[in-house]
Amino acid sequence: MARRKKIYEGKAKIMFEGPEPGTIVQYFKDDTTAFNSKKRDVIEGKGVLNNRISEHVMVGLDSVGIPTHFIRRLNMREQLVRAVEIIPLEVVVRNYAAGTLAKRLGIEEGTPLPRPIVEFCYKNDDLGDPLVAEEHIYAFNWASQHDVEHMVTLALRVNDYMSGLLFAVGIRLVDFKIEIGRQYDGDFHRLIVADEITPDSCRLWDIESGKKLDKDVFRLDLGNLSDAYAEVARRLDLLPGNNAVVPRRTG
Ligand code: UDP
Repeated sequence: MARRKKIYEGKAKIMFEGPEPGTIVQYFKDDTTAFNSKKRDVIEGKGVLNNRISEHVMVGLDSVGIPTHFIRRLNMREQLVRAVEIIPLEVVVRNYAAGTLAKRLGIEEGTPLPRPIVEFCYKNDDLGDPLVAEEHIYAFNWASQHDVEHMVTLALRVNDYMSGLLFAVGIRLVDFKIEIGRQYDGDFHRLIVADEITPDSCRLWDIESGKKLDKDVFRLDLGNLSDAYAEVARRLDLLPGNNAVVPRRTG
């Protein structure tokens, strides 16, 4: 890692130059922040779990034809990804009211939404990633109308895939955020899912108990964050030694 050239260090990840042109090494840190970095901590093991969970989700998305930046996992904390031009918008999909939507519109947390809602926030930490309308996106040239239509389609496909993946292991996908990048091929570009998909960027509730298994555990001081993320990884069968030993019946 020491020999790699750092391109960018974010709140939870570091990007290094990849071994071939057009590739990047994405390193998952244990640093955890919330409320626009006002609350921060280092949660041991979180980066390892997020690296593994994001790999699993991205590989699954690729397998159903949803393009992502993921190439392969390199080690416990690093994965090789395609270099993209990140569109400066956070794409949020919501299935149940929670977080800022619940607060902003006065809707009780957990209320099912009549249909998935897609929102865009302008990626700008100094401004606190404000919610924006499509009109702002076009006016400030963050993306074209064609890109926005494509982003909504991608986000809804990711929602369908992830809702099913998680429902199968007893987890409700309440909402999540993705980032989308442009991958250039000459004058053309295609849009692909980039960044990460982990419990840092989703709200995940246990279907039976309603227990939170995502970054809200840290935001709201509900317990050990690594334990919550390990629970998600365990249910997705991503932890070694996870095979339940079924006692052999004798007689
Ligand atoms: N989210 C994220 N990064 C952000 C803002 C939101 O990953 O900078 C995720 C968040 O974890 C949740 C969803 O997007 O799963 C919707 O978040 P919301 O707008 O409710 O904001 P929050 O309450 O997380 O500040």
